Amino acid sequence: MDGVDLRHKLESLARSMGATYFGVADLTPAKQGISEQGGEFLAQFPRAVSHGFVLMDSIVNALGYHNNVAALHTYKYHWQTVFFRIDSISLMLAQAIDKAGFQAFIVPSSQRVDKDKLAGVFSHKLAAHLAGLGWIGKSALLITPEHGPRVRWGTVLTDAPLEAGMPMDEMCQDCRACVEACPVHAFTGQAFDRPRPRSEIFAAEACDRYRRNQEQILGVRACGMCDYICPFGRKK
Ligand code: SF4
Ligand code: SF4
Repeated sequence: MDGVDLRHKLESLARSMGATYFGVADLTPAKQGISEQGGEFLAQFPRAVSHGFVLMDSIVNALGYHNNVAALHTYKYHWQTVFFRIDSISLMLAQAIDKAGFQAFIVPSSQRVDKDKLAGVFSHKLAAHLAGLGWIGKSALLITPEHGPRVRWGTVLTDAPLEAGMPMDEMCQDCRACVEACPVHAFTGQAFDRPRPRSEIFAAEACDRYRRNQEQILGVRACGMCDYICPFGRKK
């Protein structure tokens, strides 16, 4: 099977399992950063298959009732359920790539291996951005033009010769909705820029502390205001 046929096969597989977003990223321009975050083993993969599952609007919209226990519990339950689906899609894609005779390495959908940086081994947002599916906004989330940040992402790293998309330009422009809505002012309001470290746009530890505090008070470690407020997700 050549790269074109394999790409078609992977896309139809992902969509048949509920993915709304599918793309392929050329990782070459990000090789150094990938190596620094996940090591040389991950940096050897030249491409990533990125797929995204859209969260339900009715559940994210309920976050407008800020600090409502039911809304927060259902939001957390929803994205945890979605992560299971994303891992299933990644597994099916990786199996298909493997059967076609290429390397495939699944990045788990929700993973935190660096306690200080609160990050996983590889950025799903980076793959989705390089695949042309959205841009990394002032909230440090991947923003899609159609659903804003209301998408959860999966990634399969590979050496299969799949045609890659073109990265999308940032479209936050003058918007500061997430910067103003965050209860702990975790965003500096700076636009994301590859040479700029994440810590210059997002204080991840402030967000983590806030959500731990929510767990003490409300019994659920969740917030989601940055998912809720982005106009690209709310415009429907
Ligand atoms: S989840 Fe809440 S606390 Fe964390 S960054 Fe988003 S808005 Fe801020
Ligand atoms: S809320 Fe506005 S500034 Fe924040 S990510 Fe969305 S578009 Fe960008």
